[in-house]
Amino acid sequence: MNFEQGIQFIKGVGPKKAQILKSLGIENIYDLVTYYPKRYSDQSEVTPIAMLNPNETVNIAGRILTIQEKSTHRGMKITTAILVDTTGSIQIVWFNQPFIKKTLKINDEIFVKGKTGYAYGGYGQLAIKQVINYFKSEDSNAQYKFAPLYALPEFIKPKFFRTMMQNIIDSMESIPNALPQNIIDKYNLLDKLTALQQIHFPNNKQDLTVARQTLIFEELFLIQCGLIYMRKLSQQKKAGIRYLSNDKLVAKLLQNLPFALTADQNKAWHEIYSDMEKNIPMQRLLQGDVGSGKTVIAMLALIKAVENGYQGALMAPTEVLAKQHLQSFELLLAPLGIKVGLLTGSLSAKEHRIALENIAAGDWQIVIGTHALIQDKVEFNKLGLVVTDEQHRFGVAQRARLENKATAMPDVLVMTATPIPRTMTLTVYGDLDVSSIYHLPPGRQPIRTFLRTEEARPKIYKFVHDQIDAGRQAYVVCPLIELSDNIKSTSVEEIYDELSNGVFHDIKCALLHGKLSANEKEDIMQRFCSNEIKLLISTTVIEVGVNIPNASVMVVEGADRFGLAQLHQLRGRIGRGEYKSYCILLSNNKNDNSKQRLELMEKVSDGFKLAEEDLKLRGPGQFFGSMQHGLPDLKIADVFNDAAILLQARTAAEKYCQDKNNLYTINKIIQLQYKNNFLHINDV
Ligand code: ADP
Ligand code: MG
Repeated sequence: MNFEQGIQFIKGVGPKKAQILKSLGIENIYDLVTYYPKRYSDQSEVTPIAMLNPNETVNIAGRILTIQEKSTHRGMKITTAILVDTTGSIQIVWFNQPFIKKTLKINDEIFVKGKTGYAYGGYGQLAIKQVINYFKSEDSNAQYKFAPLYALPEFIKPKFFRTMMQNIIDSMESIPNALPQNIIDKYNLLDKLTALQQIHFPNNKQDLTVARQTLIFEELFLIQCGLIYMRKLSQQKKAGIRYLSNDKLVAKLLQNLPFALTADQNKAWHEIYSDMEKNIPMQRLLQGDVGSGKTVIAMLALIKAVENGYQGALMAPTEVLAKQHLQSFELLLAPLGIKVGLLTGSLSAKEHRIALENIAAGDWQIVIGTHALIQDKVEFNKLGLVVTDEQHRFGVAQRARLENKATAMPDVLVMTATPIPRTMTLTVYGDLDVSSIYHLPPGRQPIRTFLRTEEARPKIYKFVHDQIDAGRQAYVVCPLIELSDNIKSTSVEEIYDELSNGVFHDIKCALLHGKLSANEKEDIMQRFCSNEIKLLISTTVIEVGVNIPNASVMVVEGADRFGLAQLHQLRGRIGRGEYKSYCILLSNNKNDNSKQRLELMEKVSDGFKLAEEDLKLRGPGQFFGSMQHGLPDLKIADVFNDAAILLQARTAAEKYCQDKNNLYTINKIIQLQYKNNFLHINDV
C-alpha cells in the first residue's frame, strides 16, 4: 500500500469530500490511518433483556422472533421486530427505514444498541424505541464491540468514514515500524500494523490500551528524536562562544539601574552569565510571570555579548512590543554608548535598507525586531546571542533560523511569561535549561480581581467611567467567537457599538480585533499608549507584555471562555503603574467547574500556581491549545497525562540517538510523518 497516495483516490471520496478531509489534516492514506478515534462506544457489555429498565441506553443481543413493517396513516413506515434472548423478549422499533425489512430476517442473531422506553399501545411493556446502532452478529467482527467514534464535520457521515477506515485498515498488509524493534520489545509495545488495527477497531479493552501506548510512545519518541537531532546538528556545525567576564558595560548598567535586582533576578542572571562564559552554547529558558522583570535580564545578557565584541538580537512577537523594548533599551543603553536598532516589517523601503546595512556592518550592536529578523536578507556582522521574547509565539523552526544567522553557534535565551511545568518544558523546548523568576519586584500594587454576573453590568460600567474620569484608562476584553458556537454570545463589534454609543458616548473609545490590518492595530495601540484613547474594546489581540502603566481597569466579557493562564496573561496588562488596578471577570456560567476556576482567579495572583491549577482543571490539550507552541499538534499523546510515557520515550530517544546512523534514519521517518509541520530540519 502506498501511504503517500492522495485521499481522493479512495473509492467514494469525491473532490468535495477530499476538500473537507483536507481541512481535518487528512491528505493521504497515512494521514487517514493516523486520524485516531476520539472515543469508543463500548458495546462489549450486553444487558440481559429481563434486566432492562426504561430510559436507558443499552446493548442487547438476541434472535429475531418476528419482524414486520407497517405504514401509518400519515405515510410513515414503522418496522418492528421482537428480539429474544435466554431471559426474555423485547420489541424493537425503527422509523422510516424500509430497508431493515430486507436486511434482517427471522432467526437472525443481532446486536442492538439503543434507548429503552415504553412500547406503543400501552401495557407498560418495554421496547427499544430509539435504535442507535445494530448489526448481525455474523458480520459483527469482534471490532464492533468497541465502535470507534471520530471527530468529524457534519458533511462526513460517521458510517461512511468508519467503513472507509475499515476498508483501508483491512487491506493494509504491512507498515514499517517507526520505533526500533528493541524498543518495541523492551517496553512491551505492538508493531505498528497491529497498533493501527487495534486503535481503530480494538478487539477488547486490553488490546486498545496497548495500541494507545504504542502510538503515544511512538509520537513522543519521534518528537524527542527530532529535538535531539536538531540540537546535535547545530552543535556539530559550530563551536560555542566563550564570553569573558570583563564586566565593563554590565557593571555600569547594574549601577545605573533605578532599582536593585531581586533575589530571583540575581539568581537567573548568575545562571545566564555562567552559561555564557562556558564554551558550550547556552540554551536557556527564562520563565517568569508578567511584570517579573525578565527584560532587564535579557538586556544584561545582550550587553555582555556587546562588551565581548558580539552583536545581540532580541526577537519580539509583535511590532508594539519590539518598539517598547527599543524605547526602554535606548533609555538605559544610550548613556553607555551602545547602539540599538529596530527591524520590523513596517519600516519604509529606505529605512529597511539602512537597517540591513547597519546590521551587516555591525554598527548596530543590539538589534530588536519581529519576524522580520529571520528573513534571508538579514545578515549579521557577528551575531553572538539570540534572545526571543514570549517564545511560545514562535515555532521551534523560526528560532532555529535566527540562531543560524550567526557564524559561531550563538548563545540562546528564550523568555516566556507562560510558566510551564517541567514535563511539558521537555516536550516543547527539548532540552533547554530553565531559570525561573518566581517573585515580582517589591512594591507592586496587587491587582484586585472580582467575579461578577450580568446583573452587575451597570455598576461595573459606572466604576469604569469613574476611573476614566479620574484620569485612568481601561480595557474591555471579549472572547473570540467561533462560528461553530451555538452558545448565544455577543461579538466584540456589538459590544463596541453598545458601549461607545451608550454609557461611554462621552469617552474616546476604540475597537481592536484580529481582522484589522497590522497598521490599523498598530495605530490604535499607539493612540492608546499616548492616552488619546481612553477605553479599548478588544479581543485578545492586546499583546502579552504591552506596558501602559496608566491603564488600571480591565473588564473581561465571557470570562468562563478563557483559560486561567490566559486570563492571568490578560490581567497582566493592568497594575503596571502606581495606580490601584481592578480586573472584573464577567460570567454567567453557573457550571461548578467554571465557577471554581474563576474563583481561583480572585484568590490566586501567582502565575505559576494558576498554570498548574489550569492544567489540572482543563487538561493539557486546552492548556497547550492556548499556548501556540511550535510543535506539530500531537495526534494522540497528551504530555500531561502521558508524562510517564514521555519520560520513557525521552530516555529511549537519547540512547537511540547516540548512534549517528540512527539519527539519520529517524530523521527520514520524522520528515515523512510530519511533512513540513515539524522542525524544518533542512533549514538548520
Ligand atoms: P516582564 O517579565 O513581564 O517582561 P518587565 O521586564 O517588563 O517584565 O518588567 C516590568 C517592570 O518592572 C518594568 O517597568 C521594569 O523596569 C520593572 N522592574 C524590573 N526589575 C525590577 C526590580 N528588581 N525592581 C523594581 N522594578 C523592576
Ligand atoms: Mg516582557
